[in-house]
Amino acid sequence: MRLKKQISVLSAAVAMCCGTVLAAETGAQPWLNARLGAGERADLAVREMTLDEKLKLVYGYLGNDMESKKFKRPEESHVQSAGFIYGLPRLGIPHLRETDAGLGIASQGGPQARAGTALPSGLNTAATWDLATAYAGGAMIGAEARAYGFNVLLAGGVNLMREPRNGRNFEYAGEDPLLAGKIVGAQIKGIQSNRVISTLKHFALNDQETGRTTLNVKIDDQSARMSDLLALQIANEEGKPGSVMCSYNRINGVYGCESDYLLNQVLKKDWGFKGWVMSDWGATHSTIPAANAGLDQQSGMPFDLADYFGPPLKEAVMNGWVPQTRLDDMARRILHAMFEHGVVDQPVGAPVSSIDLKDHAAISIKDAQDGMVLLKNSAKVLPLDKAVKRVAVIGGYADRGVMAGGGSSLVYPAGGNAAPELMPKIWPGPVMIYPSSPLKAIQARLPNAVVAYSDGADPAAAAKLARESDVVLVFATQWTGEGFDMPNLSLPDKQDALIAAVAEANAKTVVVLETGGPVTMPWLSKVSSVLEAWYPGSSGGEAIAGVLFGEVNPSGHLPATFPASESQLPRPALDGFPEVADKRFDVSYHEGAAVGYKWFDLKGLKPLFPFGHGLSYTDFALTDLSTSVKDGVLHASFSVKNVGKVAGKEVAQVYVAPVSARWEAPKRLVGFHKADAAPGAVVKAAIAVDPRLLAMYDSASKTWKVAKGDYKVILAADAAAAADGKAVSKVVHLEAAVYDVNGKPLKAGKR
Ligand code: BGC
Repeated sequence: MRLKKQISVLSAAVAMCCGTVLAAETGAQPWLNARLGAGERADLAVREMTLDEKLKLVYGYLGNDMESKKFKRPEESHVQSAGFIYGLPRLGIPHLRETDAGLGIASQGGPQARAGTALPSGLNTAATWDLATAYAGGAMIGAEARAYGFNVLLAGGVNLMREPRNGRNFEYAGEDPLLAGKIVGAQIKGIQSNRVISTLKHFALNDQETGRTTLNVKIDDQSARMSDLLALQIANEEGKPGSVMCSYNRINGVYGCESDYLLNQVLKKDWGFKGWVMSDWGATHSTIPAANAGLDQQSGMPFDLADYFGPPLKEAVMNGWVPQTRLDDMARRILHAMFEHGVVDQPVGAPVSSIDLKDHAAISIKDAQDGMVLLKNSAKVLPLDKAVKRVAVIGGYADRGVMAGGGSSLVYPAGGNAAPELMPKIWPGPVMIYPSSPLKAIQARLPNAVVAYSDGADPAAAAKLARESDVVLVFATQWTGEGFDMPNLSLPDKQDALIAAVAEANAKTVVVLETGGPVTMPWLSKVSSVLEAWYPGSSGGEAIAGVLFGEVNPSGHLPATFPASESQLPRPALDGFPEVADKRFDVSYHEGAAVGYKWFDLKGLKPLFPFGHGLSYTDFALTDLSTSVKDGVLHASFSVKNVGKVAGKEVAQVYVAPVSARWEAPKRLVGFHKADAAPGAVVKAAIAVDPRLLAMYDSASKTWKVAKGDYKVILAADAAAAADGKAVSKVVHLEAAVYDVNGKPLKAGKR
């Protein structure tokens, strides 16, 4: 907690010295008066700014040298950082210093990476279904951003998992707009509690990496608003990010960063977003179209082909092609976020040289442990018996550490890469193994047992070791990352064959998966247990061992469907794969808003593991469902009872299936509650349903329309149970109702 204390002491001191200043004290610089609202302060400052000062604010640099473009980072930027924008010292406006990303403080490639605490993957945090955990993780990485002298964290990734082979799924929060939006919103809120701005990204429909800068997503407005955009909308409402990052891809023919529809209409007009839109690094393609479509800041130069928001923007403004009022709006939006989120009043200091990472490790471990998903546990092989005599640990670099995802979000750990020899070593690498060894953590818990390790390179030798052991723990890894997708859903490097060989030799085989997302499991029926540990963060070895031994009862539930095969997907073959440089192609989101479990329901497909699935070392009963409709709002209350022998947490999920109305799919998740219960204890919970989740979006009127009729409210522990008719359910009647674009009741006469 030392870091936190230092930060809060610092913040208080800054607030006293510079923040809470009276109007009289700010004199000729009234925008520095913290008692005024962010909007008024931004207006006052913009009025004072010259044309060149405004232009300065809308032009971002990469915070790293780039040999190929003969680019040297601005001297004032922090080494190996993602971005830098000059502030206006004359007006008391600090520089913007940007760092990636959602899992911790990343560094751009080079020899001087800073050490940070890595949270487990975003999918893991989503699998906790716990907003407090998501907030705590955000607050922790926001504190590290501040300590390292950054005031913008390029976090908040909430691209929906339409494509389980997407290399960046590990940065995001799964396939359901409600769960993903709430989790990422909570994380953003946590980050910004440090007076550090968070982004929300990537806006929008950037759901595969193959051809990400050239592909064109085809989707209609209604489907987009009820899926990917809904996730972003909810995250925006919950987290109130200062900035939104527009995406690389094209949407219905137009680049994300010059889409009037997405930026001006949806984000700024419909959702009332007051902050600024920054481009992804290399995602700006023009001056006039981009500026007029709502892009407020070009990022990461020299990533783009030209300095569109440099001299060309000046010329465009001087000649009226981009109205002066538009440039003012761009500057005002950036300043609005800076004032709103305390970046001006409580400026970040010089970077500390290192951070006390110990306390932060505890936050990362808790997140990891609450999000690991026990997929299978037959014969109750887990939790491991401490009296066991001979244990085999096989594969997955488990002797050295745990896997991390690649690309811009990569956090470098204290202690360095435990497997520096792995390829690729440069972008989107290095392939990182965090130095937190599951093997060592297991050995520490079994001082009287023989715990032997085989790296799995020789399946026959691994099988021999398995045969001679009482229990086998096989670790399997799948390295995914930014800029590439998986060719299929199989584990790479012949690990399926290794697991099959080991399971053949010993039925007491536990598989621990460290994967970027869903994988297929041809050996599933042969093994006793499977624990999906995602990328478990920089203390992942400890986190995994704690769950394997039952020190912590697993309570993660899948935030995404695990398909049985690629043939079940809306696109059995990945469009544009394998990637051909500069090739343009369409990706038709013909499934519309029926993403993930909704698609599986619609098509009657049986997945390998359904959305929402997750086992525990105890058992739960979901009961006492009661429903009511008050002022048009659907409420559900229920009980979660721990009917087993150990304490644990259950994720109670509420789904709604319309009886007569037609939705994009048979049912939707409308609420959830994670209940922590001692053996025998009953936890009571209640949810109120967001009306957008009971409605169809109507593009023509920009409203959400609930159809009159009966709706089945289902209480279940996963999406399949909700469909099989055995889960507890109640039928409610809803009257027709209309809500505005943000799901607020429309005033009478406006319907
Ligand atoms: C990624 C962004 C990231 C940016 C800055 C891009 O390649 O898509 O998510 O924030 O780089 O590093």
